[in-house]
Amino acid sequence: MPERCPECDTPVVKNEDDAMHRCPNPSCPAQFFELLKHFVSKGAADIDGLGERWCGILIDQGMVSDVADLYRQEKDRLLKLERMGDKLATRIIDNIEASKNRPLARMLFALGITHVGSEVADLLSQNYLGVTELSNTTEEDLTEIEGIGPKIAESILAWFRAPANRRVIEKLRSSGVRMEQDTLPTTVVAASGAAPFAGMTFVVTGTLSAFSRSEAEGRIKGLGGKVTSSVTKKTSYVVVGESPGSKVANAEKLGTPILDEEGFLHLLESPDSVLTAEQQGTLV
Ligand SMILES: [Zn+2]
Repeated sequence: MPERCPECDTPVVKNEDDAMHRCPNPSCPAQFFELLKHFVSKGAADIDGLGERWCGILIDQGMVSDVADLYRQEKDRLLKLERMGDKLATRIIDNIEASKNRPLARMLFALGITHVGSEVADLLSQNYLGVTELSNTTEEDLTEIEGIGPKIAESILAWFRAPANRRVIEKLRSSGVRMEQDTLPTTVVAASGAAPFAGMTFVVTGTLSAFSRSEAEGRIKGLGGKVTSSVTKKTSYVVVGESPGSKVANAEKLGTPILDEEGFLHLLESPDSVLTAEQQGTLV
C-alpha cells in the first residue's frame, strides 16, 4: 500500500469499515475518476456509452471537473476527441439527457456519499422528497429510519454540509437533473407486507408527467403488481400518458380498463378503494 496518493501525493487514510486506503483529498483526480465512473454506472445515473476510458479522457481533457459538468457536454466538442465517432457521441449525449430523469434513489446513490449504497439510497427516497429536504435534515430524523444508524446519518449530514457538494447539487439542479419527487413512493406500503396490486397486471403507455416510465413501473411492482408490455385479456389496467401508442386501441378492443395519469395516481394513493370500485364496475 502506498503511503501517499500516487495521483496527488496526499497522505492516504485507512478507512476502518472497508479496510481500504483512500485519498482524502476531495479534489484529487484519482478520487474524482472513481466517482465519475460510479456516477455514470448502471445502477446510478446509467449513462451508457460513457465507459471507464471515456471518463478518464473527459477528465484529462479538462472537460469535467465535477459530475455536474457532464450535463454541459456538447456533441461537437465530443467529436473532437480522438477515436470518438458520430454514433457514440450521439449515444453519450442522448444518455446524458435521459439521465436527467432517473428515479431519486438512483441519483442519491450516484452522488457517491460514503455508506450510501443502493439500499440506503432506496430508504432515503422512501422517506425524503428530494435533496432539498435531505440537505436540511437532522441526525434524529435520519436515524428514525430503520436501517439507518448514526454512522450512515453522520456521513450523509457531512456530505450535504460540504460547500463543494452543495455547489454540485445546485449545478445538477440548474442543468435540469431531477433531484426531487412529488410524492413519497408507495413502496413503503409494500415493504410493510401489504401488496394491494397482487394478481394484477398493468401496461404503461405514453409519457406520464409525474414519473418516468420505469418509476411508474416500480410503483406498480412495489405494490405487488406485474407490468407487461402488451395488452392482453389478462391485463387489469392500461395506464395512459401523453401521446400513447397503439396499446390504447388494443385496450379499447379488449375492453380493458384504461387509467389516465390522475386515475393512476389515485390508484397508487388508495389502491384498496379503487379496487373496490373496480369490482363494482365503476371505474375511476
Ligand atoms: Zn489523491
